[in-house]
Amino acid sequence: MSSGFVVWGKRLPVRKLMEYMSAGGGFTKTAGRSTSCRHMSFKTKASQQGMVWILLSICMLLGHALPVRAKVLSLEKSRPVRKVAPYMGILEDPAGDRSIEQLVNPVSAAAFAPIQGEMLNLGMTDAVYWLRLEVNTSIGPHGGAEGSPFVWVFDLGRPFVRNVQVYVVSQGPGAAAKIKKISSQSSQCGFPGRVSRPGCHSAFYLPELTATPQTLYIRVVPLSSLVLSPVITTMKAYQEQVTRKMLRFGIILGIFLALSVYSLIMFVALRERSYAWHSLAALSFGGFFLFIQPLSSEYLLALPAAMVHRLALLALGGAFCFSGCFARCFLHAADRIVDRLLLFFMLQGGCLLLLALGGASLMFEMAYIGVASMAVAVMAGASLIAWSRGNRRARFIFIASVAAGAIGVVHVLVLGGCLSCRPGFSYLYEVGGIAGIGLLACALGDSVKALQHEREVLRVSERRHMELAFTDALTGLFNMRYFRTQLDLAIQCAEPLNQSFTLMMMDIDNFKLFNDRYGHLQGDQVLRQLGQMIGSVIREKDVACRYGGEEFAVILPGGDFQTAVDIYTRLQGTLLQWQEHEKESLISLVTLSVGVAEYFPGEHADDLIARADSAMYEAKEGGRDQLVLSEASDPGYDQAAGECATIF
Ligand code: GH3
Ligand code: MG
Ligand code: MG
Repeated sequence: MSSGFVVWGKRLPVRKLMEYMSAGGGFTKTAGRSTSCRHMSFKTKASQQGMVWILLSICMLLGHALPVRAKVLSLEKSRPVRKVAPYMGILEDPAGDRSIEQLVNPVSAAAFAPIQGEMLNLGMTDAVYWLRLEVNTSIGPHGGAEGSPFVWVFDLGRPFVRNVQVYVVSQGPGAAAKIKKISSQSSQCGFPGRVSRPGCHSAFYLPELTATPQTLYIRVVPLSSLVLSPVITTMKAYQEQVTRKMLRFGIILGIFLALSVYSLIMFVALRERSYAWHSLAALSFGGFFLFIQPLSSEYLLALPAAMVHRLALLALGGAFCFSGCFARCFLHAADRIVDRLLLFFMLQGGCLLLLALGGASLMFEMAYIGVASMAVAVMAGASLIAWSRGNRRARFIFIASVAAGAIGVVHVLVLGGCLSCRPGFSYLYEVGGIAGIGLLACALGDSVKALQHEREVLRVSERRHMELAFTDALTGLFNMRYFRTQLDLAIQCAEPLNQSFTLMMMDIDNFKLFNDRYGHLQGDQVLRQLGQMIGSVIREKDVACRYGGEEFAVILPGGDFQTAVDIYTRLQGTLLQWQEHEKESLISLVTLSVGVAEYFPGEHADDLIARADSAMYEAKEGGRDQLVLSEASDPGYDQAAGECATIF
């Protein structure tokens, strides 16, 4: 039983005050702390003696000096989950040399200061603490089959403790205290699937609670901070809670893994390095959440708590480094200040890795938190500068770093003992982590969209340039340059497949005279209209070009003499239509001399052109306005049809 006075918002055991005053100085033992943050340690100071007396008198006068004692916790069937902090007492053991035997007596019991509030947050500390809880249960007989709803479980609700020992002390009236240590072995038997981690489990099986009050003594050696939310639950409720939490944790881890795999696939597909860094950052954050998750230390990782804690810090350090690489790559930081800041951020990530390797002591942890906070500020600053200088992509990184900073502040306040660790905070970290990494994934998606848009613009502009480079401005047909490339291509395609193609050369008859008579503008108009006509009568795969001034060439892939005749016929027909319907149009006066040469395998492009040309000149010589097939094209054709060299 402990009793004490409320002084300055703290509960001071009466015995300690009396000790303090009778010693004529102070006491060196640390009084217990409430859920608030500050550690209360009274050192010997003569001046304080009078002050305590005064305070004591004032408190008594005001009626506030009520004796404070931790209540006995009665476990009932109707309430399967009980938060036990309000029933507990706490005692600091700075040297860590107290034994359970020393503490199990009414005098020592008075040294335990009650905890107020549902959680215990002592902030960063490396002292040893004893917790004391008086408990009974009206449900009996207790124990029984594994998984029975009335098997009680004491759960500290925190993985990062270096060592935990739980003792059950039962004391009948007048009898000597019976101390039973709940060993890790016996605590393990109640939790199937639990990994073997002697001394650092946070949930203990309490098989022998009775209706007579028993006292639980819990010795806790924290790693670097002591944040506990102790509960006693039935085994069934504990298992249900574990299942729920595992499910939630699985989903969160799955999201990190999915983001990481997504980025990896995108990296392989796009060869964009930002994706690789993002994938690694997501993986590291996932690792961090895996290591800090209480359940993974309880059920998945058979490693000492200090090691798991260190792995968590390493994963977070890695996540910082990869995020820095990502930001540098993603922002293409041409800006010198931004680039320097991001390099500094990466350097800080490296420091975090070194600190994580350094150890899990209080000093390293504090240094780690300091560097991490600074790094987040640096990243936020760098992204803000980049954003303000027109890099719109930086806004995502800025928002993510502000979110990370806010979470970091909450975390620091919790670790500092200034904020009691609410259960929602773990959600805050996880949701914040996912939001941050998700935001960066969105940023990447956004940049890919921008990239696609840029590519589309480039493609359109390239196409336009190609058109300009290969198109004849007057007629809209292809130009001479394109004609040569297409002729070479037709030859290359024809060779291996042993396929032929045909070349038509057309020349307007007496165009010089036309120009002289009607003027060059009219001549141009005729050329333009003729270009359209040729384009409308050829097949889709044919390539029509303006070869020279008033000369046109048409490549007919897979076409033969007949194909050329068909096109010529269609062209004549169109000209006739114009003559009938557009009587005032001067194009009706135009006639064409056409030479046709069929390609034969092995022939050089120049020879083919020369043959088509000479056929065309033959047409000229033959009186113009006709089509002539180059004789060398098909030697057999002459005999088969005498008109082969026929003029159409
Ligand atoms: P032929 O029947 O023997 O081909 O007689 P031609 O007058 O058509 O032949 P020639 O090669 O002597 O003259 C070609 C003319 O085509 C000369 C030039 O005035 C005309 N010409 C060439 N390019 C253009 C052009 O872009 N616009 C116009 N209006 N005329 C052009
Ligand atoms: Mg000519
Ligand atoms: Mg001509």
